[in-house]
Order: sequence, then C-alpha cells, then structure tokens
Amino acid sequence: MTAVEVAIKNAVIAAGRLHGDLNTKERVIEGNGQVDVFGILARLDVPLLFRPLEGLLGAYLNDPAPGILVTTKRPLSVQRFTAAHELGHHYLRHNPSLDDESILRRSPFMASRDANLQEVEADSFAASFLLPQWLVVLHCKRQGWTTADFTSARVVYQLSLRAGTSYTATCWTLARYRFVNRLQARELSKIEPRTIKQSILGRFKPSNYYGDVWELTEADKSNVLHGGPSDIFVIRLKENAGAGYLWRVDELSQAGFSLRDDSRENASLSDTVGGPVTRRIVAESTRQQDGKLSLSEARPWQLDQVASRYIVDLDLYGAEAEGYSRAERRFRLEAA
Ligand SMILES: [Zn+2]
Repeated sequence: MTAVEVAIKNAVIAAGRLHGDLNTKERVIEGNGQVDVFGILARLDVPLLFRPLEGLLGAYLNDPAPGILVTTKRPLSVQRFTAAHELGHHYLRHNPSLDDESILRRSPFMASRDANLQEVEADSFAASFLLPQWLVVLHCKRQGWTTADFTSARVVYQLSLRAGTSYTATCWTLARYRFVNRLQARELSKIEPRTIKQSILGRFKPSNYYGDVWELTEADKSNVLHGGPSDIFVIRLKENAGAGYLWRVDELSQAGFSLRDDSRENASLSDTVGGPVTRRIVAESTRQQDGKLSLSEARPWQLDQVASRYIVDLDLYGAEAEGYSRAERRFRLEAA
C-alpha cells in the first residue's frame, strides 16, 4: 500500500472506532438517520464555534486547548463536512489546520502521491464518519433502495439529503464501499445537483436552485428530515378520487408551504374510470421553520372525516448561524 492508501485506511478505521466508542449507530437509528457531528463535538467537549470566516471553511486549533471554527457562509451540508474534517484533525492528533475551499474540491478516498497526508486523513475521516457503511444500509432498508439504484443520480442525491452529506462526497463514499465503481462515482459526481433538481421538479421552475428538492416517500413519515428554509418537497399520494376523496392542498399554506405544482399521474389504462389515482404535489417551504408538513385526504363535503393523512416532521433551519450549534445549545440545556 502507498502512504496515501495507508492514511485513508487508518482514517476510515479511526472514524469507525469513534462511532463505536460513542454508540453512534444506536443514536442514529433512534434519531434522524444522520450522524449528528455538531452534537458529537459537544459531547466530546471540543469547542465548536460558527463564524463568518474570510477565505476559510474551517479551522482546527489546539493551542492552548483544542477548538474548531466553521464558517457561517456555506450551506449546512458543507458546514457538517467541514466540522467532521476538523474533528478528524482533532481525533487523529494532527497539527493545527486552516482549511479553505480545497477540502471540497478534493475527492475523499482519492489523493495524489504528493498530497498532504494529514489532509488526506481528515477528508477520509470526515466522509466515512458522516456516511458510515451501516448508515447507507439503514437508508436503503428504509427507502427500499438496492445497490443497483445508486447508478441513479436522483437516488444518490436523495440519500445525501437524508444522511446530511454533500452530494459529491456521497458519490465517492459509495464507491469506497463498492456500492458503485469508481467510474460510476466519477460520472455521478460530474452531474450538478441543479440538474438533478430540475429533473425531479419537471415543469415547475423555481426562482433559484439554492433549496434542496426532496422526493418524499412513506418511509419519511417516521423521521425528522433536516433541510433548509427554501427546500421543495415532491409528494406522491394515492388518491381515491372516484370515491370523492381529495388531498387537501389548501392545508399547505397554513403550515408554511406554497403549492407550486399539482397534478394527477400514472393513471393506467386498465384502471376503471374513477379508481384511485396518484396525486403529485409540489410544495415549497416559505420560511425557516420546524414542525410538520401535513396533508389530509377527505371528501370536500365531509372535511372532518379524514380518510388518510400524510405527515412528515421537518427541521428547515438550514445552515448554522454565528455562535454555538443548535445541537450544542440543546445539549447544554439538557445538561443544565
Ligand atoms: Zn484540514
């Protein structure tokens, strides 16, 4: 093995060891399906502060005591990757490090011979810490995805949203675990998230593509999804229109969402007229919020008799703001 390969292997093993020590797997299964890196730093008592850094995504300092800085100027998935990278520097007892954009341009688990080994280790640590193999398997089980589905950029993107990882880091991490091969990972990583979002949204064109686009499923009903204030949700629901039942899209606005598209699709020719159809609803969040996206199906003349409900719990606060992380503030409140 080359020095780079040894560094990658050691970092992946270290990330797994830390998860074992912290019992992360159990917490993630009970929790939101994400590795809560900010909460873990709080539990490890490593100070983490968010600041509007100039020219840096993050920093690891260790004199006189260890501490981590992460920028407020990037999306949550980048903040999470940066914090995990700095945690890697700390856990692997590295020298202090000032980390700029290059940590996003590098592909974790791939590095040239002359690469800085400390940075190779921190990148590999971060990617495998945020998306351990068991977490991929967990989301596959929940969503009914198979390995073959990971050749689809849309599925890889949906995994990245649920795991709270960046899309490109997810592509390379899937290759590390051999869910896809390297060539497939390279092809997937070249696809811009904006292109994936457009293909999910179809005819609806948002004013910008900053927000993420979630394809919600039945499996999402049991978890809290972590997103941003302008995220868009595509919901497909079976509707018993023939029996007079309709999904009440009017409920979206009071919950903080705007209806952006509404159609009925996939009514197969063999269906008898008036049989169930699939209603496709596109809803855009209108603010920073947490709570429920909730829809009920009822007959317009009997609104109090609800035939079925679709409810997902959402946390749409997006990027962390200046100061301590939300997880750390919760942790301190609980400890107090
Ligand atoms: Zn670094």
